[in-house]
Amino acid sequence: MSILQAQGLSKVYSSKGNVSYKALEDIDLTIEAGEFVGVMGPSGSGKTTLLNLLSTIDRPTSGVIEINGVEPTRLDANKLAMFRRRELGFVFQDFNLLDTLSIKENIILPLVLDGMAPKQIEQKAAAIADVLHITGIMDKRTYEVSGGQKQRAAIARALIHQPSIVLADELTGNLDSKSAKDAMDALKDMNERLRATILMVTHDPFSASYCERILFIKDGKFFSELRRGSNRQAFFQQILDSLSLLGGSFE
Ligand code: ADP
Ligand code: MG
Repeated sequence: MSILQAQGLSKVYSSKGNVSYKALEDIDLTIEAGEFVGVMGPSGSGKTTLLNLLSTIDRPTSGVIEINGVEPTRLDANKLAMFRRRELGFVFQDFNLLDTLSIKENIILPLVLDGMAPKQIEQKAAAIADVLHITGIMDKRTYEVSGGQKQRAAIARALIHQPSIVLADELTGNLDSKSAKDAMDALKDMNERLRATILMVTHDPFSASYCERILFIKDGKFFSELRRGSNRQAFFQQILDSLSLLGGSFE
């Protein structure tokens, strides 16, 4: 069953001086339930643009997006806000946790906003904390925990409401290599144990090697696709080879 389908997605940014820029051109994409898919490409290739369109943060210039049977671009503002809250989970590079709240309060925020009963919220929080090994830090503030722990908390927040799909943009971008591995192990765990469907944008080959399938884009266009076999080390090498074929810079 496909969770996300995009057809002919294009995005043209037009600014004041009548200059327009085609950041994305005719992208087709299908993601099946339970898949863990990566999007890679050089800086400026349109990765964030693509994610913003799929996450309904921005609207495509043309093309159709369907997520769990709904075309979000057809929803009015209220329904769209609800759709985003229920169907999507987000993980960002800079965590986007609120410093005035505890780790637990951050994680349960989507459920509180959705009006779920406190007892049920407690149960869900305890369960996801257990899976992500963050039970011991639930009452801490965000500034009392490490970057890796923050990203685990952000992953918990993105998944606690069991969204149709989790969208992540450079989630290891602000992490050292150990914390990056920690966050990717956590995400992979969520994918395998909870069957979470994940679409992750990254320029980092190590993070990408956790995916089952990687789409490469260049200059806003589809370039190639790579599927992982049984060996992550071999996949990592294939990713490096694809990136060198792509050219461009990857900061
Ligand atoms: P990536 O995430 O792959 O680095 P982006 O999707 O952020 O790439 O950007 C793709 C291209 O679109 C870049 O050339 C960028 O400068 C341009 N771009 C991104 N956002 C905007 C915007 N809001 N207005 C105009 N141009 C933009
Ligand atoms: Mg980007």
